[in-house]
Amino acid sequence: MTHAVTVPVIILNDGVEIPALGFGTYKLNGSAGVESMVSAIRTGYRLLDSAFKYENEGAVGEAVRRSGVPREELLITSKVPGLRHRYDETLYTVEESLYRAGLEYYDFYLIHWPNPSQKLYVESWKALVEARRQGLVRSIGVCNFLPEHIQKLIDETGVAPSLNQVELHPYFPQQEQREWDRTHGIVTQSWSPIGRANEILSEPAVTSAAARLGKSAVQIVLRWHVQLGAIPIPKSSNPQRQAENLSVFDFELSEAEMNAITALGRPDGRRKDQHPAYYEEF
Ligand code: NAP
Repeated sequence: MTHAVTVPVIILNDGVEIPALGFGTYKLNGSAGVESMVSAIRTGYRLLDSAFKYENEGAVGEAVRRSGVPREELLITSKVPGLRHRYDETLYTVEESLYRAGLEYYDFYLIHWPNPSQKLYVESWKALVEARRQGLVRSIGVCNFLPEHIQKLIDETGVAPSLNQVELHPYFPQQEQREWDRTHGIVTQSWSPIGRANEILSEPAVTSAAARLGKSAVQIVLRWHVQLGAIPIPKSSNPQRQAENLSVFDFELSEAEMNAITALGRPDGRRKDQHPAYYEEF
């Protein structure tokens, strides 16, 4: 096995430990996807983020088996799609995800989008609480939930999510949502953490820190997430870029650099206007 980087861990509100940086798998499918994921695991990633909707749970399970790393050292995430928010549907979808992956349990299972117009996310949450009770899942969370959605889960079930995975990058730093999550004991995870490698990477606030520290622009952005206390899950199909993205634990951004990167935020900074109050996925 190749040299593996050690990633610090964060302890969630249910006691489950999660690495401070994970690996995104959207668009990693089939045998090429398996190869990329095996490479990521051998590089040192221990947290793999997938979803029922990505249609790659089978590839994730195959990568786990081929990686040579014991299952219990890996943390695997999947997500329930909008079409399966009814109680019985969510429960059988967790089971279906496990069959697809050939795994006995998921570490994390999240509600993918709140889809507020369906008014079913609390039902889905109750099913995830039951899936956790049955041992199908170790830790349960949400994605793309606004404070009002999470508050409703807490009010109606008494169970807070461990994680809230949201769009988060320098153009959309999510200060308010991060602060809300933090004060409610919920860890924020960052999707599209490098904005799918868009023009964020040539912003002077990023490139000047990169020059000072002798790091790449992507490493600066990922380090910014880590210092915010948000867990980035960058995706890369390329082994060199996978290693680059994981190597962000041996340097530090100054407070001024952190603030300058956060100041790149824009009110409409979402990449595709996917506001969870009205954008829905099924
Ligand atoms: P991302 O991780 O911000 O960016 C991925 C893109 O950046 C790919 O095109 C990749 O290309 C490129 N890239 C990666 N590392 C690079 C580097 N060091 N230098 C230059 N380019 C680099 O975007 P994302 O895939 O949208 O987000 C990450 C993960 O979040 C997803 O894979 C998925 O697991 C999750 N996600 C969740 C939701 C949700 O609703 N919950 C929504 C979107 C995404 P190569 O592959 O060629 O390296």
